Amino acid sequence: MTSPKTGGCLCGAVRYEINGDPVADALCHCRDCQYVSGGEPASVVVLPRDAVKITKGELKGYTKQGDSGKNVTRRFCANCGTQVISEVESNPDIIVIKAGTLNDPSAFKPGVVLYTSSAQPWAHMPEDVPHMPKGM
Ligand SMILES: [Zn+2]
Ligand SMILES: [Zn+2]
Repeated sequence: MTSPKTGGCLCGAVRYEINGDPVADALCHCRDCQYVSGGEPASVVVLPRDAVKITKGELKGYTKQGDSGKNVTRRFCANCGTQVISEVESNPDIIVIKAGTLNDPSAFKPGVVLYTSSAQPWAHMPEDVPHMPKGM
């Protein structure tokens, strides 16, 4: 993925702008991500925190302790429920965007698969990128 990019939620109440290059494009199979993705991995763009600016609307947050023992806050549109951003306590310098919320998600290219240890047996896995049993 290259910058600048824009995106937002399904109903359009929340919009964001990305100015900066991603640290990684990743697929996350952790059990928690399965809930918010629908079962397949969450497709996420990992960015430096200051690269992402909310330009319209407000996100509601839900915080839960992740597998690492540190909190993960998932932020979503209060109107349509779209999961937009995640913040991880274990690395406050990054911010995570759901690839599906980009205006053009086609540029997303997974470079690593995370939490393969909790992936469902029916999940699709790209073979040509590193697989990690847990997080990065
Ligand atoms: Zn919305
Ligand atoms: Zn996850």
